[in-house]
Amino acid sequence: MISLLPTAAYIHIPFCRRRCYYCDFPVFVVGDRHTGASSGNIQLYLDRLTAEIATQINYQQPLTTIFFGGGTPSLLTVAQLGQILDLLATKFGIANDAEISMEIDPGTFDLTQLQGYLQAGINRISIGVQAFQDQLLQLCGRSHTVSDIYQAVELLHRGGISNWSLDLISGLPQQTIVQWATSLESAIELNPTHISCYDLIVEAQTPFAKQYQPGDKPLPSDETTAQMYRTAQQILSGAGYTHYEISNYAKPGSQCRHNLTYWQNQSYYAFGMGAASNLEDHRFTRPRKTQEYYQWVADGCNWRVDLTPTADRFLETLMLGLRLARGVSLQAIESEFGIDRVNSLLKCLQRDRDRGWVEIVVSANDDRYVRLSDPEGLLFSNVVLTEIFSLEL
Ligand code: SF4
Repeated sequence: MISLLPTAAYIHIPFCRRRCYYCDFPVFVVGDRHTGASSGNIQLYLDRLTAEIATQINYQQPLTTIFFGGGTPSLLTVAQLGQILDLLATKFGIANDAEISMEIDPGTFDLTQLQGYLQAGINRISIGVQAFQDQLLQLCGRSHTVSDIYQAVELLHRGGISNWSLDLISGLPQQTIVQWATSLESAIELNPTHISCYDLIVEAQTPFAKQYQPGDKPLPSDETTAQMYRTAQQILSGAGYTHYEISNYAKPGSQCRHNLTYWQNQSYYAFGMGAASNLEDHRFTRPRKTQEYYQWVADGCNWRVDLTPTADRFLETLMLGLRLARGVSLQAIESEFGIDRVNSLLKCLQRDRDRGWVEIVVSANDDRYVRLSDPEGLLFSNVVLTEIFSLEL
């Protein structure tokens, strides 16, 4: 059941030192010689961002999770980050035990800056690593080297942050299974509490889309990327990380609370260029281009769009909930959408149950959950979801 009262907020910080060749996120490039304080573009954006936050309806619930994503939020000065957090605290309130995450990139921060972020309230860091091979980092257009990764993690340890995550990408051009396994093992050696593993998608309009055709060399074949998925599951589970979501692994108690809000189809605020919110059953993505976003803020930030029809909400709940290892509660589906929906869902999934991709499990409190098996069901989630989407509702 959707929570109508949001307690999560996503803040989009769209600056990057350069654009990685696979990235289609709404970001703008501020260059290698950037310093947060000296960038007029950054301050201009922050003025619009804070204006947007100030106009937001307040649902009178303190925030329990805040996520600074990007882009590269570590291009903000401590003062700039503090300004946004102060505004959020004044406007909505921030719970004492709130999870406040920030994405950072190697080579974009030093110890003083990190300590400043932590003092301002950041208590979870997510570091964009992607690979442990300089050749692959270069090929992706990443702005850092493997040695920068080790230096950045050293800073995290010295800064005393205990809750931190590391991102890796599989399916990169020229990437071999051996390199992928090495990246996973190198990540484990650094002992993060959380690891995200994303499979490369060659997005239209990116330099990668001009260079590479999905399915063609030097991109790994579908069979190889499937093997990479299984390898991640095997190596990370073996090292004590729970595979709690299609692309995410965590040590016990270290699941990303903010991202769980999305997968549980709850409501959340979002602020900034290209950011998507879910409020009062309205999903809204803000303009992805800088000037359009500025104009939208100047026009008063109207995020209200048509109500999501119930059929879409049913499909959305399954699409998001089946990303989670624990799956979706059939009791919750029944109470929100009715027993007929549960019956058609189970009928539709019978073939996938027979081939071992879908499981029905009974929880400790006797609720039945439908979930994808790990790794095969999660690996073929797009096939299962296509079948669910063909349901006549
Ligand atoms: S650092 Fe992240 S957001 Fe920035 S260009 Fe690279 S992938 Fe995109």
